[in-house]
Amino acid sequence: MVSIDNYDFKGKRAIIRVDFNVPVDAAGNVTDDTRIRAAAPTIKKVLSEGGAVILMSHMGRPKKNPDMKYTLEQIIPAVENNLGVKVQFAGDCMGEKAAEMCKNIQAGEVVLLENLRFYAEEEGKPRGLAEDATKEEKEAAKKALKEGSQKEFVKKLASYADCYINDAFGTAHRKHASTYLIAKYFPNDKMFGYLMEKEVKAISEVMENPQRPFCAIVGGSKVSSKIGVIKALLDKCDSIIIGGGMTYTFAGALGGKVGKSICEPDMHPVALEILEMAKAKGVKFLMSPDALTCDQFSEEANTKESSVMDIDPEWEGVDIGAGGKAAFREHILECKTILWNGPVGVFEINKFSTGSKAVAEAIAEATKKGAFSLIGGGDSVACVNKFGLGDEVSYISTGGGALLEYIEFGDLPGVAAIRD
Ligand code: AMP
Repeated sequence: MVSIDNYDFKGKRAIIRVDFNVPVDAAGNVTDDTRIRAAAPTIKKVLSEGGAVILMSHMGRPKKNPDMKYTLEQIIPAVENNLGVKVQFAGDCMGEKAAEMCKNIQAGEVVLLENLRFYAEEEGKPRGLAEDATKEEKEAAKKALKEGSQKEFVKKLASYADCYINDAFGTAHRKHASTYLIAKYFPNDKMFGYLMEKEVKAISEVMENPQRPFCAIVGGSKVSSKIGVIKALLDKCDSIIIGGGMTYTFAGALGGKVGKSICEPDMHPVALEILEMAKAKGVKFLMSPDALTCDQFSEEANTKESSVMDIDPEWEGVDIGAGGKAAFREHILECKTILWNGPVGVFEINKFSTGSKAVAEAIAEATKKGAFSLIGGGDSVACVNKFGLGDEVSYISTGGGALLEYIEFGDLPGVAAIRD
């Protein structure tokens, strides 16, 4: 496999799949350029080695072509700011003009293609079907798209460049034209960008070869969205801490009274199965013994702590209690590898955030003592950042869904397409 560090970019055109799906305000200003900043080292590397760069990305979920709310033209100032070079805008990702610009691009120059998802071919999801289309009709339309115009779309994108770099970890779990299908046109000239390399290395460090003990902390709102991840983790970790809203599904399954807490009774059998699996595999299962409960979902709420198995009927569990904070901290400090996905409470409301803060602080402390800590999945990242601890953990993943799928399936289409 070629790597970005040993590839000769001199005189070559590199098409780079980046994740420029950044938030913009109503005036079209980028409000958080983290993703652009994250891709800059890869782009600068190609430029500094005498290559030319063609950037492609999606933004948002446009449903037509064009859908100017999602034009990538609005992010050009932010891209130029991060790269320190002028960016030429192709105005489309297909068509004569885009092809001409990519053909004529010179070493050191950057062309930005328009939002890939203006075209249904990027995702391979047909558009414009009648509302009452049958399942068969939908399947037929999808097949026609994938076997017809999507092939042309991929071929056209590939024709713009001499080599392909995927640096969009956030979309690496998608089998899309620009993240997966395009790779086969570059059998000897495809590689990860620096961001992808870092992500894959960090996750492999945790999932393939963790220093032990390895603790996974899984929080968030629902068991139903994390079943696959929890089961996969039970094969890898020594202990699992369950936090957040899903605590009450476990408590309910064990016969507890959960009051008005978020709970998925239809998931009770799954919760019991997970407990059984943990026992059978010798994985320590930790849940907070107590909950911080509230009488309303706001900063003005009255709060009290109660046993997680005995919450008053009108009250709702929204964070771990003092017992949980102490137990989690003590356990986290004993671990050498820590993976955290999902807050252990409703951290967005300050009153309900002290449990997640305690977990974040314990992870930072363990990291200082030499543990490797990986934080991933949108909300846990926002959570460590809220407490100003982003720099005190080993690695923060940029991919929410991608990270979870990597954990669950052990690989991602976008990663495999480059590697295999
Ligand atoms: P997820 O996307 O599944 O990781 O869920 C993250 C969300 O779970 C955050 O917005 C938290 O506010 C929410 N959450 C955490 N604990 C609870 C809880 N006890 N009750 C309701 N929501 C929660």
